[in-house]
Amino acid sequence: ERTIHQAFLDQAQRRPDKILFDLPGGRKVTYDQTLQTSQRIAAKLVGDGVRPGDRVAMQVEKSPEAVALYLATLQIGGIFLPLNTAYTGAEMDYFVDDAAPKVLVCDPSAAAQHTHRSSTGLMVETLGTEQDGTLLQADAPHAEVHPAQPDEPASILYTSGTTGRSKGAVLTHRNLASNCRALLETWQYTSEDRLIHALPIFHIHGLFVAVNMTLTAGASMYWLSTFDADAILDLLPQSTVLMGVPTFYTRLLKSDRLTREVCSGVRLFVSGSAPLLAADHETFAERTGHSILERYGMTETGMNTTNPYVEDPDAGGGLRKPGTVGRPFPGVEVRVVSREGGEEVPQGEVGIVEVRGPNVFSGYWQMPEKTAEEFREDGFFITGDLGRIDEDGYLCIVGRDKDLIISGGYNVYPKEVEEVIDDHPAVLESAVVGVPHPDFGETVLAAVVPRDASDSEGLAEELGTLVGERLARFKQPRAYRIIEALPRNVMGKVQKAQLRKQYAETFA
Ligand code: ATP
Ligand code: MG
Repeated sequence: ERTIHQAFLDQAQRRPDKILFDLPGGRKVTYDQTLQTSQRIAAKLVGDGVRPGDRVAMQVEKSPEAVALYLATLQIGGIFLPLNTAYTGAEMDYFVDDAAPKVLVCDPSAAAQHTHRSSTGLMVETLGTEQDGTLLQADAPHAEVHPAQPDEPASILYTSGTTGRSKGAVLTHRNLASNCRALLETWQYTSEDRLIHALPIFHIHGLFVAVNMTLTAGASMYWLSTFDADAILDLLPQSTVLMGVPTFYTRLLKSDRLTREVCSGVRLFVSGSAPLLAADHETFAERTGHSILERYGMTETGMNTTNPYVEDPDAGGGLRKPGTVGRPFPGVEVRVVSREGGEEVPQGEVGIVEVRGPNVFSGYWQMPEKTAEEFREDGFFITGDLGRIDEDGYLCIVGRDKDLIISGGYNVYPKEVEEVIDDHPAVLESAVVGVPHPDFGETVLAAVVPRDASDSEGLAEELGTLVGERLARFKQPRAYRIIEALPRNVMGKVQKAQLRKQYAETFA
């Protein structure tokens, strides 16, 4: 299988003058320019002593040069390690100590914070968003390409840290290339595509889905530094694909500018990284005529399942179904097993989702025990997500194993309760968590965001009545908290651990 870097090189030779990055303000960067920049960066990295297997860490704002740094690292056999731009002092210490990179590339304004690291033999380089920084100051390009083997690590990507401290997932060249190919084929992504890229590039979605697909297909990207509804609406008429997290769609729906006309040239809207509200899926379809395609993946595995690209109602269940994440990508196996015994559960029952395939990572960086715990003997990876397979073979994610509430010995799946609460017309969204309770061990608490904050009087009582009619007593929240917004990270993931902590004393 060709590596991502080889596939990019092929495209850069085939279409050197094609635009790869199209930035607001008119800057455009071609495939060949990206190749040239990556070769200059490669020279710099080699000069800094990077050898195959060495880590190259990056904590910089999004720019075409940051992608060139990724390509340069792959070119010389380094292991690319992008870090969340929000990490500060102690967090950076953890990641730098954990991954022990040879080079850390940071923003020019942050260089002073990292000078003390030079004493550990780490080289600090800088890269800004104005084509500035020490990283770009090499005299001659380095064109030699390290012949990477499929099992060699290409990247360490840290998980989002939703359920605990972020873990470094070691992804091989095979992991990246095989997943990229499955995505290109399934979503029929080609050099004709013009993608709106408004995701961060330190997570799997923005980097190994959106960027890898574009680089290897020879397509173009509108490159936005962050999500901006108006900027996206300006670009939609000339774009073919938008890849977003659910909050992108929630926010786009708030704009009057989102119309059928604006979306008429778009062939694909993708959502992932967190559950898309079924109501958003439906409203989006009404407003635009487009059915958002939801898919499911994670740092450790890349993309596992997808709703169908080609909607074929005659082929039985070939539709994009809200609230589901579809069927496995080609080459990926998905099964649902019981939490207790680990045996496969009958269709329709909830259990732990496990996956196997060329997309599944080789292990957590320097955590052999943790790695061993998360794999079955037959090679399936235990995702930690709970799901069930519906009558059409579609996977439905019902939450995370760690968010499961066990109250008085009974399992409560938060999503089931959230769906009932969200049905109340005055509710925008909700998050249900377990909090300590003296009698039940844990009990159910609901954090609820009303559609209109000024109109939430009596809402808790009404919700009590609603769930009373629809759910067994043990599933009913024993407390409601009406709040302005759910705590979310950049990927739009609800931070349930934060809610649990915040409300831990409710029944103490
Ligand atoms: P950590 O593992 O550090 O706690 P994380 O699991 O949020 O953080 P990621 O690897 O970025 O880190 O996210 C993967 C998770 O995101 C999946 O395991 C799943 O829980 C969730 N997810 C991704 N796509 C979807 C989706 N379409 N619907 C529901 N959940 C999704
Ligand atoms: Mg995870």
